[in-house]
Amino acid sequence: MAKICWLLAGGVDLEKSEQFASDNYSGVCPQAWEAMALANKSDEPAYGEDRWTQQAADELRRLFDTDCEVYFVFNGTAANSLALASMGQSFHSVICHELAHIETDECGGPEYASNGAKLLLGTGADGKLTPESIEHLVTKRSDIHYPKPKVISLTQATEVGTVYTPEDIQTIRTVADKHGLRIHMDGARFANAVAALDVHPSEITWKAGVDVLCFSGTKNGLALGEAVVFFNKSLAEDFEWRCKQAGQLASKMRFISAPWCGLLENDVWLANARHANACAERLEQGIARIPGVELRFPRQANGVFVELPETVQLALREKGWHFYTFIGGSARLMCSWATRPDQVDRFLADLKSLV
Ligand SMILES: *Cc1c(COP(=O)(O)O)cnc(C)c1O
Repeated sequence: MAKICWLLAGGVDLEKSEQFASDNYSGVCPQAWEAMALANKSDEPAYGEDRWTQQAADELRRLFDTDCEVYFVFNGTAANSLALASMGQSFHSVICHELAHIETDECGGPEYASNGAKLLLGTGADGKLTPESIEHLVTKRSDIHYPKPKVISLTQATEVGTVYTPEDIQTIRTVADKHGLRIHMDGARFANAVAALDVHPSEITWKAGVDVLCFSGTKNGLALGEAVVFFNKSLAEDFEWRCKQAGQLASKMRFISAPWCGLLENDVWLANARHANACAERLEQGIARIPGVELRFPRQANGVFVELPETVQLALREKGWHFYTFIGGSARLMCSWATRPDQVDRFLADLKSLV
């Protein structure tokens, strides 16, 4: 309590915290906040039986232009873990890139939720799983002692800020069809990928053969809440029980779904993603003009990866900049709906002065 009062009293200069650490450092976008306030004006049925949840699901069906099944859970780890658990049996395996969040950052959540389905790690440049790598993992063994491959998981946009094009996904779908595999998409930055590719959301999901999408609202501008979208509706059988058992059924569900309505109305989700991508592009272009600093991966969505000497990283941090270096040592600079162009420019000026 004392700490909250201290914060409210201005004990912390909130404006001063400058960061490119992650898109989930950002706050809630105004449209989502307003929808949340609106949902607070009346009582509503609990556990997703409310009007907001119905509307958000309908709007997602409209957005994807197909009759899909939609569920809302609290976070991305739960969305991925529960979706993957519903896509195979415990003796199956899930093929993903070695950098995939489900492998590196979910504390074994997918294996836990599926009672043991094993992740098989594939490779590919720029964080993208290649058809060859998938083919290799599927065909190298077919005996009873190997966990039977059942699912391919693609992260869109990837952990290193690149995107799978519709053609990339279609090619992977061909491999999937050949071997009877399902496709899961970790869409923690799905909105950024749609904005980057300038495609209709259906073109990089069900039309390209994706069975289940975990569509993040959190990184796009919500406080919390991810949509699990089943294009392959048969995989959604009893999914609500899976969510409930895992502690992922929100009793006041409308406070997840109403903000989703705020994002979906007038394509706020897309505007948020376009803004984040544009800020990343501004960063990328500014960095490209600074001699002696190397970009690490192609900048395609809202993240910029840059090789910086340790001393420069340290000096930037001393100036108050926050960023992570957990992927291969390069500095990851993430932009969000809330990133300001002047913030990008201040970072660039600081960086320029240090190299
Ligand atoms: C952020 C993120 C998630 C979700 O993480 P949670 O912290 O569980 O919400 C999933 N996949 C990727 C690639 C992410 O960046």
